[in-house]
Amino acid sequence: MELSKKVKSITPSQTIEITNTARQLRAAGVDVISLSAGEPDFNTPDEIIDAVYDASKKGRTKYTASKGLPALRQAIAEKMQRDNNLTYDENQIYVGNGAKQVLYNIFMATLNEGDEVIVPSPYWVSYTEQIKIAGGEPVTAVTTEDTDFKLTPELLKAHMTEKTKMLVLNSPNNPTGTVYTKDELQQLADVLAETEIIIVVDEIYEVLTYGTPHVSIASLNDKIKAQTIIVNGVSKSHAMTGWRVGYACGDAELISALASLTSQSTTSVAEPSQYGAIAAYNMDPKHTETYRKTFEARRDNAFQQIESIPYMTCIKPEGAFYLFPHVQKCAEQCGYDTVDAFVKDILREKHVAFVPGSGFGAPEYARISYSIDEASFNEAIRRIKDFIEEKT
Ligand code: PLP
Repeated sequence: MELSKKVKSITPSQTIEITNTARQLRAAGVDVISLSAGEPDFNTPDEIIDAVYDASKKGRTKYTASKGLPALRQAIAEKMQRDNNLTYDENQIYVGNGAKQVLYNIFMATLNEGDEVIVPSPYWVSYTEQIKIAGGEPVTAVTTEDTDFKLTPELLKAHMTEKTKMLVLNSPNNPTGTVYTKDELQQLADVLAETEIIIVVDEIYEVLTYGTPHVSIASLNDKIKAQTIIVNGVSKSHAMTGWRVGYACGDAELISALASLTSQSTTSVAEPSQYGAIAAYNMDPKHTETYRKTFEARRDNAFQQIESIPYMTCIKPEGAFYLFPHVQKCAEQCGYDTVDAFVKDILREKHVAFVPGSGFGAPEYARISYSIDEASFNEAIRRIKDFIEEKT
């Protein structure tokens, strides 16, 4: 069957591919340890599941407004005020099927053929592919370890042209785990405020920071707030990846356009899931603090473990649940030209799965998730070390 040019231009998500391979091996009885997870390994809190059950029993199992339930948009408005000191009214909030679909709709609603979108690399795998589907042109601004993989004002300016329509920022970052400080955001904001560039900020890992506190660029001043569209959701904050609820806050006209796209594609987010998200935002914040502490302890252990692997180097991540070590030298020492081939053989021979950096625009690196219990993580590192010892 002849497929569209659009679809042919997409690279499928490598993270999902590796996770699926690991899952298949496990189903076949192989003892695979997966360090490729992009989701918390906890179950959704009972309180949320109970709220979904109660709502479903009361018949809240229907289509909803394409922007999302008014009660959920109200709960999100309260969350934005409480956690981010940002005021949005309900017509500036849109609820979609996870942050991923929210981002997809944003690109579809704003980009015309040839519009350029600056995406700092390493980047989350879906930005560039979604931008291409929407007809835009991803322009990669390559960041390095020297700036902790952060975009600087100089690098931003060097990639701005008259075709630049948008910038995508992600903090805390997947895959590097870096978190922008308020000062760093201010420096970027100073450049952006002189333009009409739309700033898309993906704040899905907001609650998972281990030093530098999360700051939303939209909170810096009114001009920047007007240019910014915030993307967030309950997937990572409340272990709700499977419920598919994310949201956007920003310009009311854009929010209406997102709802309009939804009305002709998915109609709305599943109503029971929306009741789950309402319960999540009304939960005691102590709950997310428990998650954060668990991940912080795991981060400390994981970083120590990675540092003990020969030929690998890594910056200490300050957020999310990933490490992003430089692996090329290690791969070469083991006789591999590419990190991709090295990673594939570790999965095949030692049954440890993690994601090569090529999909994140950084082929010399790899992403290692520590969303897994400490004992399993340590065992995975032991196997990787065994592999290196055998090959060198
Ligand atoms: N943004 C980033 C940076 C992510 O890592 C992910 C999920 O891995 C998402 C967005 C998508 O989140 P959701 O489950 O809300 O679609």
